[in-house]
Amino acid sequence: MKVYALPLHNRFRDITVREGVLLEGPAGWGEFGPFADYSDTESVPWLASALEASEQGWPAAVRERVEVNTTVPVVPPDRAHALVRASGCRTAKVKVADKRSTLADDCDRLEAVRDALGPAGAIRVDANTAWDVDTAVTALAALDKAAGGLEYAEQPCRTIDELAAVRRRVSVRIAADESIRRAEDPLKVAVAGAADIAVLKVAPLGGVRRALEVAEACGLPCVVSSAVETSVGLAAGLALAGALPQLDFACGLGTMSLLNGDVSTTSLSPVDGYLPVLPQAPAPDRFEEFAAAPDVAESWLARLDRVRALR
Ligand SMILES: [Mg+2]
Repeated sequence: MKVYALPLHNRFRDITVREGVLLEGPAGWGEFGPFADYSDTESVPWLASALEASEQGWPAAVRERVEVNTTVPVVPPDRAHALVRASGCRTAKVKVADKRSTLADDCDRLEAVRDALGPAGAIRVDANTAWDVDTAVTALAALDKAAGGLEYAEQPCRTIDELAAVRRRVSVRIAADESIRRAEDPLKVAVAGAADIAVLKVAPLGGVRRALEVAEACGLPCVVSSAVETSVGLAAGLALAGALPQLDFACGLGTMSLLNGDVSTTSLSPVDGYLPVLPQAPAPDRFEEFAAAPDVAESWLARLDRVRALR
């Protein structure tokens, strides 16, 4: 077991360092890295996912590579433009509705991203549950215009009922993310007519096999996203994206660029907007460079023990 601490280039979900545990088993490496706001009980699927990777391995893939989006954090327009250009991706996901930015700022950032991608590129936004229904309806109209057309909007509001209400009032497609990953029943989203697209994350859903079951049961087009893991965790997302029978949108697995370093020497950075469907292992020298401080490592191993006891 190895506990890593990797700095982020920009603040993301109120964190500046990504931490987690890498587990080795007979099938390879798995990653256990629930965010700090996940309780021990909510972290059980994250452990199941890490153990699936290390002990069982993944189902066979139907594709060898997966198109990914680049992620644009809350940065000034010129920086957003440069990030998109440097990524080589044809799809950009832009964080909006952040506490540190206004709707006008978000529109400026979207205009810059459209300029960088050109007319053929796809732009999606992620509000991470920030809006109420009326605010979402107003904001999405403005953002759709600024972006020259949005591919979809991810989780504009917190609840499934709110998502359904927004979806009835806007022409932009709605994607459910938090509503699927933290829900007791991820299928409620489809039943309620709350989304056009399901965002699937392997770790919070409890592994690749479980995520494939959710995909099939919800019957919505799926986008596989990461939880900003190292390449070890990203490989699990790629295994899911590789195994999904249908994959219509670029996936949110191009998140290595958010981290300042990686534990793998075959780091999963997109090439021409694609990532390979391949397992990953930490390299000993890389791992030493990004090993967590002893007190951080100790608290992660204690968390892992508590979660293991709940399985
Ligand atoms: Mg999201």
